[in-house]
Amino acid sequence: MPLVKCPHCGKEAEFTGNEFRPFCSERCKLLDFGAWADEEYSLPSESRSMTDEEIDQIEKAQAGKKEE
Ligand SMILES: [Zn+2]
Repeated sequence: MPLVKCPHCGKEAEFTGNEFRPFCSERCKLLDFGAWADEEYSLPSESRSMTDEEIDQIEKAQAGKKEE
């Protein structure tokens, strides 16, 4: 039986007939995907929308420039 090392926990699991491969179990598959997804969501602020305060500051800065 070919064995494959689970990328999440490192445990060797059967490759053949393993519907969760390359993970050893559904748990590892979900946990690993969850960790990956979390990382994706915690990516920096650039894509998040600005707060009213930030928009206000930008507007003030732009207004100030126009007056000069
Ligand atoms: Zn595992």
